[in-house]
Parts: sequence; C-alpha cells; structure tokens
Amino acid sequence: MVQSVNSIPILDLAQQYATIEAEVSDAVLKVLTSGGYIGGSRVLDFEQQFANYIGVSECVVCNSGTDALYLALRALNIGAGDEVITTPFTFFATTEVVSAVGATPVFVDIDADSFNLDINQIATAITGKTRAIIPVHLFGQPLDMTGIMAIAQSHQLAVIEDCAQATGALWANQKVGSIGQIGCFSFYPTKNLGACGDGGAVTTNDPAIAAKIRLLREHGSQGRYIYQEIGINSRLDALQAAILQIKLRYLDTWNEQRRAIARRYHQLLSHIPGIVTPQELAKSQGVWNQYTIRLQREGNEAIVPGISTGGTYRDQVRSQLQERGVGSMVYYPQPLHLQPVYKNLGYLLGQLPKAEQACHEVLSLPMFPELSLSQQEQVIYSLKDCLS
Ligand SMILES: *Cc1c(COP(=O)(O)O)cnc(C)c1O
Repeated sequence: MVQSVNSIPILDLAQQYATIEAEVSDAVLKVLTSGGYIGGSRVLDFEQQFANYIGVSECVVCNSGTDALYLALRALNIGAGDEVITTPFTFFATTEVVSAVGATPVFVDIDADSFNLDINQIATAITGKTRAIIPVHLFGQPLDMTGIMAIAQSHQLAVIEDCAQATGALWANQKVGSIGQIGCFSFYPTKNLGACGDGGAVTTNDPAIAAKIRLLREHGSQGRYIYQEIGINSRLDALQAAILQIKLRYLDTWNEQRRAIARRYHQLLSHIPGIVTPQELAKSQGVWNQYTIRLQREGNEAIVPGISTGGTYRDQVRSQLQERGVGSMVYYPQPLHLQPVYKNLGYLLGQLPKAEQACHEVLSLPMFPELSLSQQEQVIYSLKDCLS
C-alpha cells in the first residue's frame, strides 16, 4: 500500500477562508462593533444582491435551507391532504418539510445518468391531490427545468426548486431558483455558497409569495406584537449576511474553478472500467457542489435492490481511500422512500430501483475550488489503486 504524505479532505473550508480572511474579518468586526446583530442594512443589502444575482425580483433570507423549503410550502398553503412529488435521492430536509406541513411526499425514481428526478415518470405520479413538484438540483446539477415547467403548467402544479446545492447553476442560461414559482437556497457551510453558520434564502418573482414568507418567518407578525398567522422564527443574522455579501462576489470564480476540476475528473476517470462519471445535460451549467461517481463491479447487481448496510464494493473502496489519506463521502446511503420514518407510506424494496442502486454505488470525491492539480492527481492515483 502506498501511504501518502498529505491527506486530502473532501472539502477544506479553512483553505477558502484563508483566501478572503482580511475582507471577512474586517466585515465581521464592523458588525460586532456596530451592535446591530439582527436585521438591519446588511441583511437587506444581501437580500437585494442575492435577488439580482439569481435574476428575480424578490429574495427573503431565513435561517436555513430547511426553513426556506418549509416557508415555501406554507406560502403556497400546501398542507394536510395535499401531495408533493419529489425525488427519493436527496437530503432528508427536502421531504421532511413536506411531512412537517402535513402533506404527503410522493416519490418518483431518478434518472440514472444525472441522479436527478426522472421527469418522464412524473406524470404517472400525479393525482387529484398533487399540488407541487420539488425538483432538487442534486450535487449542483440542474434538472431539465423546461420539461418540469411544462408538466407543472399542464397540471396546474407549483414548482419549488430545491437549489440548496446549486447556487449559481444555470439551466438554458437562466439561474436555478428563478425558473419555478419559488427557489430555496441553503448557506450551510458545506454548500457552494456557504456562510460561517446556518443560513438560507427564498427567491421568487411573485411579490405576494415574498410578502407571505416575510410574515411567516417572523412569527406571522405584521407590525409589532400583532399576529396574523402561526409562523416561525427564522432569521439570517447580520454577521452571516455580511460574510455572504463578500462570498457572493467570489461565487462565479469559485463555480468556474469547480467546473475546471470536474472536467479534469471526467478526463482522467471516465475511461476507467468500473467507474461511471456523472453526465451533464446539454442545456445545463452545473456548479459541482459534489463530484459523484458510481463504482460498479461484476456481481455488484446481486445486492440490488436493497438498502445499503455498509458492506458494498463502494464501501470497501471508500475505506481503502481513507487509508490512503483521501476523503470521500456517500451522498446518500439510503433512499428516502425506504427510511424508517416513511414506513407508513408503504413503499417496497425495489419499487424505485434506480435510486436504490445509486445508494449502493455512489461516492463523492474531494471537490472544492482550491483543490490543486497535484491533490487531484493524488486522488485519482489513490482511487485507481483501490479498484478491484
Ligand atoms: C442542505 C440541503 C437542504 C437543507 O439545507 P439546510 O441549510 O442544511 O437546512 C435541503 N435540500 C438539499 C438538497 C440540501 O442539500
């Protein structure tokens, strides 16, 4: 076994901070000395800048991507008795909020090449109770939003884009989060636009939706101590807004760096037997929040369908990579339709086979804008060493 000298993490937030340390620490100190920690001009300015960046008229910031999705559903009055179509291959928050408002998630299988919702299967899942579709731009790769919007329009469904992993990604030259009725973003530190703590945002071109979300994120209050609705408390604080204002200015450069790293991975990995590299749709310009490959081997199929229990070929490769000092992650080891919490929904093993297979095979490799060429070569060298 070759023991590498330097280990390579899947993500290095400290390295990114080092590149903007002077600007960020200055902005943070200004907020601290100002005494204004909640609300204020930094938050309002960031909302305006983010709306401009995404290309919408309205942005409402909040405490997290989870809250953004929750607020979006509440703003559309989606609740008990309603169904929301989405993917089983995403972070749990996407459907947790559907359940939290009292609605029912309806899972549609993914497309094997893109890991995203298979739009050809959406129509068969639509019932009289369906109110909305939540497409997730997973790993930073946009869905076919033209296709989604056509389906939604013909069935009069709302579209809430989950852009948590895709800030700045484009579909047909339009930023994701500006195409559906509502876009939901996360500024969790590991996302491609990450704060130094929790944060989120909702984008829309509909002033009525924006106004409703502003109301709901502040305890449903309109005017001090007058309550119109049961809301929540969900704020982006001034420190995070100040940091995000700075980071937003670098985002396009960082996204370009991610694209260059993704191209290099593709060049160096796509010809290797047993590795399937991710594909991009022609109209999509993704931001590669994750670079996720599939690991396949003869005999692997025997364990599919099922739930990954940690004993797959992929898991072996991952632990061998770890021994060689290369970090990686499994996004995601279990599909949502087979989660314990959704037992009551009655999905069966094998029912959404592509999502289940992906859970056995996926491995996300080191991906962050500052990843150097030599680090990337070490990732690839080590990965080849681990294949059998
Ligand atoms: C991170 C994430 C969320 C939730 O965002 P938080 O800010 O962590 O609450 C929702 N959906 C997807 C796809 C995510 O990756």
